[in-house]
Amino acid sequence: MSNDNSFSQAREQHMAAMPSVFVSHGAPTYAIEPGLAGAQLAAVGRALGKPKGIVIVSPHWMTPGVEITATLKPETIHDFGGFPAALYRIRYPAPGAPQLAGRTMEQLASRGIKASLNATRGLDHGAWVPLLHMYPEADVPVVQVSLPLDTDEQRAFELGRALAGLADEGVLVVGSGSLTHNLYEFRTGNVDEAAYAREFSSWIRSSVQQGDHERLLQALQRAPHAARAHPTSEHFLPLLVAAGAASVATPVTVLDAGIRHGVIAMESYVFGQSIELDMEVSHA
Ligand code: ZN
Repeated sequence: MSNDNSFSQAREQHMAAMPSVFVSHGAPTYAIEPGLAGAQLAAVGRALGKPKGIVIVSPHWMTPGVEITATLKPETIHDFGGFPAALYRIRYPAPGAPQLAGRTMEQLASRGIKASLNATRGLDHGAWVPLLHMYPEADVPVVQVSLPLDTDEQRAFELGRALAGLADEGVLVVGSGSLTHNLYEFRTGNVDEAAYAREFSSWIRSSVQQGDHERLLQALQRAPHAARAHPTSEHFLPLLVAAGAASVATPVTVLDAGIRHGVIAMESYVFGQSIELDMEVSHA
């Protein structure tokens, strides 16, 4: 079906399926302040080893239909303003993967999702900041998939489902968002660690640990403080992409890195694999 040799070989060699990952990408300063969350992502990167490629979805690239980066050398996009100069000097020079982009388009098409290739787009901070911590050597090819503007919970989950086949071929599918994301409270900065962010996060965590996708799909209606945790849905939806991309619902590895800036939950999940995190190697 595919004339893509390297990916066909991966299938023939029965390469172990990769899990899928949801990461909370925090504020852009997370790039220079890795803290516990960054150390956890680094440990996950070491535990998983290098995948053949990474397909990542971030809410900082939203388009009318699904687009897929087919760029050979994706640029590092600094899509934020008013942050320290050091942030704008960071480059994440991971190679692109036009072949994997084509394979991704095939997978989406087989599930009835039309997509187009974009040969110029780079990686936004929702993509490169977490990958900087997970694969600091920037030697794993990366393809970014846009989040369509009309995506709702069900469509996000189906987008993930359509990407699940790539995991069987040794590709790591990552949904990058934020477990809580109230920018107004983040900017005004006058909130002590907000109890609501913990309450919302633990409701989500239990749904994730139970593999209860129905409950997860209803989270923005049913979870405590959902409207405050996500005044808009775009930073929540990548969680559903990652859940959909997992070939099995459980086990799940929970990365609880606490709350930053009072209101930003840094919790991340590895779907479909239980990982014993080795935090001993310090993050470079
Ligand atoms: Zn963001």
